[in-house]
Parts: sequence; C-alpha cells; structure tokens
Amino acid sequence: MLTSYLEPSPSQFDSLTGLLDREGCARAAETMLAKTAQEHLRPLAVFWLNIDRFKQINDSLGHLAGDGVLAELAHRLAIASGNQGYLARMGGDEFVLLVSDCNRAAAEHIARDLLAAMSQPLDVGTMRLYPSVSIGIALSNDRENARELLERADQTLVHAKRLGGAQYLFAGEDVQLGRLGKLLAREELEVEEALHKALESGGLSLHYQPILQVADGSLEAVEALMRCNCEGTMYPPDRFIPVAEKTGLIIRLGEWSLLTGARYVSKLLADKQRIKVAINVSRAQLTAPKFTQALYAALACSNAPAELIELEITESLFMDSSDIVQRNIRAVLEAGFPLAIDDFGTGYSCLASLKDLPARKLKLDRAFITDLPHNPRSFAIAKAIVHLALDLGMSVVAEGVETIEQHAILSEMGATAIQGFYLARPMPERQLDEWLAMRRSR
Ligand code: C2E
Ligand code: CA
Ligand code: CA
Repeated sequence: MLTSYLEPSPSQFDSLTGLLDREGCARAAETMLAKTAQEHLRPLAVFWLNIDRFKQINDSLGHLAGDGVLAELAHRLAIASGNQGYLARMGGDEFVLLVSDCNRAAAEHIARDLLAAMSQPLDVGTMRLYPSVSIGIALSNDRENARELLERADQTLVHAKRLGGAQYLFAGEDVQLGRLGKLLAREELEVEEALHKALESGGLSLHYQPILQVADGSLEAVEALMRCNCEGTMYPPDRFIPVAEKTGLIIRLGEWSLLTGARYVSKLLADKQRIKVAINVSRAQLTAPKFTQALYAALACSNAPAELIELEITESLFMDSSDIVQRNIRAVLEAGFPLAIDDFGTGYSCLASLKDLPARKLKLDRAFITDLPHNPRSFAIAKAIVHLALDLGMSVVAEGVETIEQHAILSEMGATAIQGFYLARPMPERQLDEWLAMRRSR
C-alpha cells in the first residue's frame, strides 16, 4: 500500500494491526496534501472511524479478544478500502483512512462500503458480534494544513456518534435540531416529519405475520409489525424505528401499537378466534416509568386478556440491569403478559445467561437462518441455541425461514414454531382475516 513518496520509519506503524500509527498518519496526510496541491488533484478525503460500543465488547469479552476484534476490523478496513490510500490506527478503537484525489460522491461511495464491511457479523468463539462504526469525513481545501484537516474529520466523527452511531457524516453538513429538539442528520429529519404526519393523519398501520407450530401446523401467534405510510411513501421500520427511538416518538408509536394490537385480539375473540398477537417493545418504552400505565390502558381500552398479548423484547434489553427496566419486566409478568426474547443471538450476552431470563419463548434471529443449510457455523450455533432453550423449558421460534430446506432443518433441530416468508409474509389486518378464514374452511 505504501508508495515511494512516503517512507515512514518502523516506529510509525501500529504493532497490533500493522497499520500506520498516529504519527505515521500525520506524516502521510502532510505528504498527500502537498501532492494534492502540486498536482492539482481533487481533494484529499479523511475518514475518521470509531467502532460503536467497543468498550462494551472489550468489557464483556476481555482485552485479548478485544484486540482480536480490532485486528479483524482493521483487516476488513484494508479490504473494504480496496487498498487505496493509507490506513492508520489512531489508538484505541479509532482508525483513519486517507484517500487522495477524491470528490464527495467518491467519498460517499467509500463510506458506504466501509459501513457495510464493518457491520458484517463477527464470530468470536461461540459468540456472534454485530459491530458497527461511525465515520466523520472531511475533504481537504487549500485553506488548512494536514493537522487541521484531520481535526475537522475527528470533530465530525463526534457529531456522527451523537447521531447514534452506525453512520457517516460529512464535515460542514452537521446535525440539525428536529421538531422535538433532538439532533438529527438531514435524512432523519425527513423521516421524523413523515412520522409526525403519519401519527396525525392515520398513516400508521400494523401488519401481521403468522407464526406456525412445527408439530401440527397450528397457529402459534401472529407478530404485529408496524408500517408507516406518509403521502404515498412507505417507510420501512428499519428506517423509521431508529428515528422514532432517537426522537422519543417511539413511546407514542409503542402505545399506539399496543392498543391497536390489543383491539385486534378482542376483535378476533368476538369472532371466536383465540389468537395470540405478539407486539414488539422498544428500549425507550421499557425504560419509561409510564410503561405499565400504557399496558394497563391498552387492556382497559380493548378488553383483551393479557395472556393473548405477547411482548417481544430483545435479548440485550432483558440483560439491562437498570432498576426501571427490571421493574417494568416484573410488572409485565405480574400482569400476565407472556414474554418472548426477540432477535436472540445478536446481543452481546452469553448463552449461560439464558437461564436467568424470565421469558418462556426465544426467537432465534434470522441471521443464523439466512445462510442455512450451507454454513456449518450457523448450523452449529442455531442447533446449540435451540437445544439449550428447549432444555431450559422454553419454546423456540425460528425467524426468517424462507426456504423448504431451512424449514426442514429447523423442524429436525426441534424448533417449536416457524416464522418466515416461506410460510407467510406480514399482511394487513383484512388480508390476515381472509388468510384465517381460508384456513378455517380447510
Ligand atoms: P423483528 O421484530 O425481528 O421482526 C421481524 C422482521 O423480519 C420483520 O421485518 C419481518 O417482515 C421480517 N421477516 C419475517 N420473515 C422473514 C423472512 O422470511 N425473510 C426476511 N428477509 N425477513 C423476514 P419488518 O416488518 O421490516 O420489521 C423490522 C424490525 O422493525 C422488526 O424486526 C422490529 O425490530 C422493528 N419493528 C417493527 N414493528 C415494530 C413495532 O411496532 N415496535 C417496535 N418497537 N419495533 C418494531
Ligand atoms: Ca420481533
Ligand atoms: Ca426478531
């Protein structure tokens, strides 16, 4: 990667990753900036990266494994950057990529590649991590020196982090205040606007996806999945839930989905159909003191029995030891709501902690299912999780089952129930009513 115009001394390399160190980076940036001016190149782009939640990874896995993660991520960076430019480790979990002759569009392209490469799952022993990075990007101009350019990228990284991580931000396009006074990037502002409009004008809806028992094909539950339609544009949950969480709107959305889901339970009951509806609960809801009030309000307004409303809570939330979360979880159990651990296997907790979780159902994350039957590692992990959960007396739902082969493998493994496009897609209420009627008539 090193070309002749730059010859750092050996002390300018980082011993763990083999990348340039901080000093080597400063020297490389100076040389490249000079070359940019001399040869009238397009700007020099500085990407300053930081691994999100690295402290958590380090604390839970130990420093040795943490070093392994850093080395692997450095390796990914080298591949993702296509060996263009220079890579440096600035200490800790901070990296810099320098790319000369790079305009904004090219830089954006590189940033997307970096985000994608860094967010691939990473296996450490029996654990699967889902790393992510934040990136601050600065493009050189002829008014500043190398140190100032690097500093600008570093400061932009701080803004990218404040946006919640897993994203890149260009210097000068910094964050703005949204309707509710939260810092948002420009794209997020649009989503926030859409969410407000949807809340005000009935643009929110729930789609329901059937989950079927392996043993006899009977209906185990339907999962309620939120949809946001604003002026003809459909925003997928992966886009609007993070913004809703960041702005606090998720509390209102969560109350709305609890109530709407509970009303559907009642409607089905009135129609002599006893069907459990699973509703996703977010971190913000579970850390809110008024969560139990919202739950009781949903029961009171809908007349639905708690035992038919299953609450899906992610693994990492269960592990949250804060008083308020634990109090809310206890309240949920006392009120008689069944609990399921959602997206199991994607958090940072260890398998042994399963025995301490007060849920009777585990949902095995789609990440383990997607590459079945071809990936033996995914197979081994999925099997271990299914068996352990069954041994602990829990039921296991496999998520994201798309093919007949996956269905067969998971049935054989002993999964209790299956959810996925292979069996049924999420559908609007009316379509689910038809789907249920069709099954009854069989
Ligand atoms: P999730 O809780 O893991 O929900 C399952 C997601 O997997 C849904 O995506 C569903 O459409 C998708 N899915 C189901 N079967 C398959 C399959 O066979 N293949 C593939 N590729 N995907 C499948 P969706 O509806 O886009 O929701 C995404 C996420 O957004 C959900 O993941 C959940 O975390 C969140 N979400 C959705 N609705 C709500 C809600 O009302 N409240 C909260 N807090 N989060 C929600
Ligand atoms: Ca879920
Ligand atoms: Ca899930």
